[in-house]
Formats: sequence, C-alpha cells, structure tokens
Amino acid sequence: MANEWELKKLFVDIGKRIWTRGYVAANDGNMTVRLNDKELLTTPTGISKGFMTTDMIIKVDYDGNVISGNPKYRPSSEVKMHIDVYKERPDINAVVHSHPPYCTSFAVAGIPLDKCVLPEAIIVIGSVPIAKYGLPSTDELPDNIRPHIKTSDAILLENHGALTLGTDLLSAYHKMETLEHTAHIVWNAIQLGNLNVLPEEERDRLMNLRDKYNLTGRVAVCDTTPMPSNDTPIVSTGQVNLMNTSKISDDTIRRITESVLSKLNK
Ligand SMILES: [Zn+2]
Repeated sequence: MANEWELKKLFVDIGKRIWTRGYVAANDGNMTVRLNDKELLTTPTGISKGFMTTDMIIKVDYDGNVISGNPKYRPSSEVKMHIDVYKERPDINAVVHSHPPYCTSFAVAGIPLDKCVLPEAIIVIGSVPIAKYGLPSTDELPDNIRPHIKTSDAILLENHGALTLGTDLLSAYHKMETLEHTAHIVWNAIQLGNLNVLPEEERDRLMNLRDKYNLTGRVAVCDTTPMPSNDTPIVSTGQVNLMNTSKISDDTIRRITESVLSKLNK
C-alpha cells in the first residue's frame, strides 16, 4: 500500500475529480482508506472535496476517534459507515461515497441497476442493489448497507447517493465512475425507448473473464431478463406513447383519418 503522504495527495486529487465531475454538491461526499489494522485516513466534514488540501486529511481509529490531524478539521460524519465496511470486508482498503446525479436518480426512483447491459459494468460492478434509506451519520445507514456489502462493491443508497469499495483508493473511485457512467447510458437508452439486455451466455462469458484475470472485489451477478418488449413501453411521452403505436386499433386510425380529411375538405 502507498505511504501516508502519497495517500493524502491522492485524496486531494480524487476529491477534485469528484467535485469537478459533479458527483457532489457543496461539502457532500466522503472517502476513507485503510492505513493498517489500527488506523484509517478520512476526508474532513464540512469541506468541499474540490478544495481539500493534504493538511485537512485526518487519521482515525476503527472507533472513529481522531488519532492525528489539524484540530481545525473534524472527521467525516459518515465515518461509521466506512468503518463498518472495513469490519465486514477485510479485502477492502478504500471506500468512496458521493451523490452522482444519474445513479442517484435511480436510487431516488427505486430502480436498481441490476440489468446486464455493458460489458465493463458487468465485470467491474455487476448488479448494483439499492440499500434501504437510513438517516445519514446514524447507525441506520451502516445497518442497511451491511447486507449488500457482503456481495457487492457498488451500492446505491435509497434517496441519497452511492457507495463504492476497492482494494485501493483509485479502484474504489474508478468503480464510482463506472457506476455513474453506466447509469447515464442506461438513462439515455430508456429515453430512446429501448434497453437491450445481454443474454445469459454472454454474461457468463464476461463473468469467466473475471476469473481468468483474477479480478479482485465482489460483484453480484446481473439480471439477463429482457426488458418488456416494445408492446409494453418503458417510456411514454405523455399524450402519445411512442413505443405503443402497434396497439392503436384500426377503428382509431379510421376516426383520426376521417377527422383530418373533414378538416382538409373545409
Ligand atoms: Zn451522502
């Protein structure tokens, strides 16, 4: 693992990326990294992740008590949630939490990103579940996330945001990028009126690649059930249902045609 100074610089760099990409607003979001079996580094609370400097990063123990750091800054209010991940997952060394707009929209809509859609996403984050809502900074959040971190390194937090885990800080952050990128593309496909889901055989071939390349982390196997056919649209424009035109009866077409013709003849 990188030394403490290098990790602090990485916190600052990744904080800038998170803020610049719009994954957080104002002072939202937090990150931690495991230094050893007694110490963690955490981002400070109440500071924009885009404006962090290395002296703001705080060292805490696995009960959340401050070990060292500039006394002007306090640890992230969500450090409990991070510590719980480290206790449950000895293979994980870094945790990133943010509120990227597209994946958080799915979390707000209550729609998990569980379909097999993009090869990289299937391999890296798999089926992404939604953890039940919990009041931020309380035990509710770790309690509701716990069942999911056993099987997944990327989790949506209901009406809140997202959490990603990694063997190091960069891999935890990259999973957040993959999660948001996937959510953005799935959102766009839904707007276009169709979401093609990869079949089971292709999913299995992709999952075999995980084994072949000895990829770390845990992914839940994604769902290959096709989305409803065009007869049962997944989007509607409101008055006119673009994907459901095949259901318009001959009688309706006849009435519309007669109405148009009568107007033209006036
Ligand atoms: Zn949050």
